[in-house]
Amino acid sequence: MRDFTYHRPKTLDDAAALLAVEDSRPMSGGMSLLPSMKLRLSDWAHIVDLAAVPNLSGVREEGGQIVVGARTTHVQVATSQLLHARLPALAELAEGIGDPLVRNRGTIGGSIANADPAADYPSAVLALRATIVTNLREISGDTFFNGLFETALEPCEIVTAVRFARARRAAYAKYRHPASRYAVVGAFVAQYDDEVRVAVTGASSHVFRIAEIEALLRDNFSVAAIESVAPTLPAMNADLFASADYRAHLVVEMVRRAVAAASSRNALAD
Ligand SMILES: Cc1cc2nc3c(=O)[nH]c(=O)nc-3n(C[C@H](O)[C@H](O)[C@H](O)COP(=O)(O)OP(=O)(O)OC[C@H]3O[C@@H](n4cnc5c(N)ncnc54)[C@H](O)[C@@H]3O)c2cc1C
Repeated sequence: MRDFTYHRPKTLDDAAALLAVEDSRPMSGGMSLLPSMKLRLSDWAHIVDLAAVPNLSGVREEGGQIVVGARTTHVQVATSQLLHARLPALAELAEGIGDPLVRNRGTIGGSIANADPAADYPSAVLALRATIVTNLREISGDTFFNGLFETALEPCEIVTAVRFARARRAAYAKYRHPASRYAVVGAFVAQYDDEVRVAVTGASSHVFRIAEIEALLRDNFSVAAIESVAPTLPAMNADLFASADYRAHLVVEMVRRAVAAASSRNALAD
């Protein structure tokens, strides 16, 4: 790890100004950024810590949508009373991330900006019709993730919040790595009045939806509707923990489990 200068701005504008300097990187919880620097997978001259920037954390409801501040930690999402009442699947997803240290430090904004192919939140972003709010603009969740650790963010852009559209019913199921708890495969299923969304993480270079299964579930939201489905999938990841074939099997299995969990839920009222 080479020497770097640590900055702790007190406003969003100051943070943006610091990030305009070449070789700068924002930091939220540091749970992914610092290990990657220690392992020399990334190397930055300036680290801009967002911890002292106000109004970046918390969960609130606004215009029928759930807004989660970018610096909201996983444990805050997992224990949010508002989420348990209005969008419990998101709280449950956060509860299953990593270990207590990771959940206490790691944030939703850091997780989605990092775009790890095995991270949990990206599946919620795609399934829950999310919008990514930054200091510069709003980005549809549908176009946010575009590759391995790649997003639509500009280098000096700061995520400030994520807005989720509340679903009638939703659930997340993951087959987790036994040590890190990252998703070997995770599936987020959300039912809306006009569509069903099925988003899968961990299985490929980045999160993706399965239109074939979404169409079946739109007509009949039940495990029976997808009992014999064999969807066309993108290229599957393969590593020490799961072969490509096994991941493909897990994709369908995790979707079934998420549908079963969502089906057992009462549809949420407006
Ligand atoms: C042991 C371990 C287990 C883990 N298990 C899981 C798991 O089960 N599931 C899971 O999903 N994740 C897991 N993680 C990752 C964890 O959730 C991290 O918290 C998350 O990936 C990064 O969040 P962070 O706030 O720490 O971001 P940081 O590490 O601070 O930043 C990550 C990246 O995002 C950028 N960034 C940070 N904040 C912003 C912002 N507001 N705007 C723009 N860019 C920003 C940084 O520059 C950096 O490139 C695990 C991590 C560890 C170390």
